[in-house]
Parts: sequence; structure tokens; C-alpha cells
Amino acid sequence: MRSVSILGSTGSIGRQALEVIEQQGMRAVALTAHHSTALLEEQCRKFRPRLAVLTSQEAAAELRIRLSDTDIRVSSGMEGLLEAAVLEEADTVLTAVVGNIGLRPTLAAIRARKRIALANKETLVCAGELVMAQAAEYGAEIVPVDSEHSALFQCLQGNRDRGEVKRLILTASGGPFWGKTREDLKQAALRDALKHPNWSMGAKITVDSATLMNKGLEFIEAMRLYRMPPEKIQIVVHRESIIHSLVEYCDHAILAQLGMPDMRLPIQYALTWPGRTDAVAEELDLLRCPPLTFGPPDTETFRCLALALDAARRPGTACAVLNGANEAAVQLFLQEKIGFLDIADRVERALSTVPTVERPSLDDILAADAAAREAVFSS
Ligand code: NDP
Ligand code: MG
Repeated sequence: MRSVSILGSTGSIGRQALEVIEQQGMRAVALTAHHSTALLEEQCRKFRPRLAVLTSQEAAAELRIRLSDTDIRVSSGMEGLLEAAVLEEADTVLTAVVGNIGLRPTLAAIRARKRIALANKETLVCAGELVMAQAAEYGAEIVPVDSEHSALFQCLQGNRDRGEVKRLILTASGGPFWGKTREDLKQAALRDALKHPNWSMGAKITVDSATLMNKGLEFIEAMRLYRMPPEKIQIVVHRESIIHSLVEYCDHAILAQLGMPDMRLPIQYALTWPGRTDAVAEELDLLRCPPLTFGPPDTETFRCLALALDAARRPGTACAVLNGANEAAVQLFLQEKIGFLDIADRVERALSTVPTVERPSLDDILAADAAAREAVFSS
């Protein structure tokens, strides 16, 4: 029975993880959020964790009062997140916060030798080499939650030698604006960007799916998780989101993982691996499945993807700059302060103005991230 600390339990991934935990009879021993006090209180009353954390100090003070009739400890701020990441009762930490705020807690959980069920892709984009090196040093398991990376992970089970892998094939839904031109996208509205055809997710990743930055971040995530060079990763647009990704081996056998677009499956697998248990997720009926289609990505219209593929090939802090700039630009777009195409423009400007550091330390990475955000906010 797993005992899970969920960083970001009130979000899209966090809420689905709690459904899995409940159905599988697992324990949630720590729950964290930013400022969703009422929902976190409700989750705490249902799951009775040891620790509840709100990173907002005021919200935490309110939660402490609301939970005063229980024995649940309430903490706040980054200190609280770090406490949840290393909590003794937890054997697994699900990183489901959004953004690179997840970096320090992920590193702390690795050093505490927890299993990391990793949803928070920004951490791997920003500091993937450091995170993977620490995981190897401390012997911490990193099991992906992102559906594409879970699919790759599943297709790599039993593979004894990475040299036998010819390439990883990442599928992309194309998002709500697939087929549009740059002219069409000049006026793209926030509400349209937030309408994903296949997945219901948090606002930031939904915008990343509309710009296709999400697929660029996932490309970098796959490079880091599976230690693959960029030339061995291919992106294929597959509108139906039924095949979640594929691995091609040197003998040209291609293994794929299929399923309904339902995040509860990869969340569950990250918790039960190397075993499998009965499903919480919806079943795929192949006889009612739409025809499966495949096409090339459009990096001309979706420039965020081109920028990410370029940063992926650059050493040092380039990916940290890409990620920090994107987080800042998406924040401005969500506040309707900039237009849809401005996201790529701002990221590009940050990539060309913020100097990169080769062989960066954690401090260099955090400095690159801060400089990238500053470049976006001030341009
Ligand atoms: P949501 O926006 O739905 O949830 C984010 C969670 O993080 C909430 O619990 C939120 O708390 C918390 N949070 C937000 N800001 C902060 C902060 N500054 N400090 C601490 N906690 C914070 O995001 P998703 O669940 O969609 O995504 C989470 C991560 O998983 C992302 O990295 C995303 O890329 C990745 N992912 C998501 C998928 C999906 O289907 N949703 C699929 C694959 C990957 P509060 O409610 O209080 O704001
Ligand atoms: Mg994904």
C-alpha cells in the first residue's frame, strides 16, 4: 500500500490522483496547495493526511483555524512544501504543482529517496540534468505521470539495453488551434485557447497545448528521463489522443501504448509500477474508436515548438530560460495582457537576451529562470 504525499492536490492532476488513491486503498499522507483553502480543507477531512500545506501564508493561517478540531498539522510557504516532500510517512511524492516552484521540493524528495511520481514537467525542463543525476546518486525512482512519458516508460519495460532503442515517438494532439494559420491566431482569444479538444487540464498546461510549447517541453522531458539525444526523438501529430506515444526498436518493431485520454491511468501506473492493478480509468473500445491519423508538426505556425526544439539542442541553462520565459509569458496571456502570438515573441526575446551558462549549478539555473522572467515582464 503506497503512502503518497501530493504536491498540488487541488489541481487537475492532484484531484484525479486522490480518486486513484481512494479507489486503490492507498494513503494520502500530505496534501498541498497554493491558496485553495476550502477544497484543501474538504480533502483533508476526507483523506486525513498527517500534513496539510498552503504556500500562501494567509490561506494557511485560515486553514489552521478551520482544521483546529483535527490532529492534521498545517504548514505554509516553501518550507511547508519541503516538509511534505520529505515527510517520513510518505514512500512516494507526486509532484503535481504547476511551474518550476516544484524544483526544490523534487530535489528534496529525491535526497530523501522517495519514489517520485513526476507530473511537474517544468522541473525536468528547467533542471533535468541535475535532477536525473541526483536521482541516480540517491537511488530514487522517477516514474513519469505525463501521459506520453508514461506510454514511453511502459513501452520500455523489459528493454535491457538503451542501445536497442532506435527512437522515441511522442504523439501530440495538436491542441485547439491545429490547422489554423498565423493570421487566424493573431486574434486568438483566451477562452478559445482554454478549450482543449481531448483533455481537461489546468490553465497553464492548456495554454501550452494551444501554443504547442507543451510538446516542446515534453520533448526535453523525454530527453532527460530517457537520456536520449534530440535526433532520436520524433514528434507526430495524432489528433485522436488514443496512442499516447511509441518506442521504435532497432529491428523496426514499434511498441505503442493505447488508452482513452484519461490521466488517471498514468497516475495509477506511476503509483503501482512495476505492478498493475484494476483500472480507475475509462476502458478503450477499439471497435468504437475513431480512425487513427498521423501527421507532421507545424513549427512555422506554432513557433513555441520550434523555440523549444532549438533550446533542447543548446547546452546549459537554455532550457531553464525557455521554461521561465514561457511561464511568465503564459501568465501574462492568462491575465489578457498580451496576445496569443506574443507568447512566442516574448520567449524568443528572452532566449536571445539572457546569457546562458554551461554546466550550471542549481543557483545558475534559478538565476537563469529569474532573468528569463524579468526579460518577459520588462519587454
Ligand atoms: P493545476 O493548475 O490544475 O493545479 C496546480 C496545483 O499546484 C494546484 O494544487 C495549485 O494550488 C498548486 N499551485 C499553483 N501555484 C502554486 C505555487 N506557486 N506554489 C505551490 N503550489 C502551487 O495544474 P495541473 O494539475 O493541470 O498540472 C500540474 C502539473 O502537471 C503541471 O506541471 C503540468 O504540466 C503537469 N501535467 C498536467 C497534466 C494534466 O492533465 N493536467 C498532464 C500532464 C502533465 P491552488 O489550487 O491553491 O492554486
Ligand atoms: Mg502530456
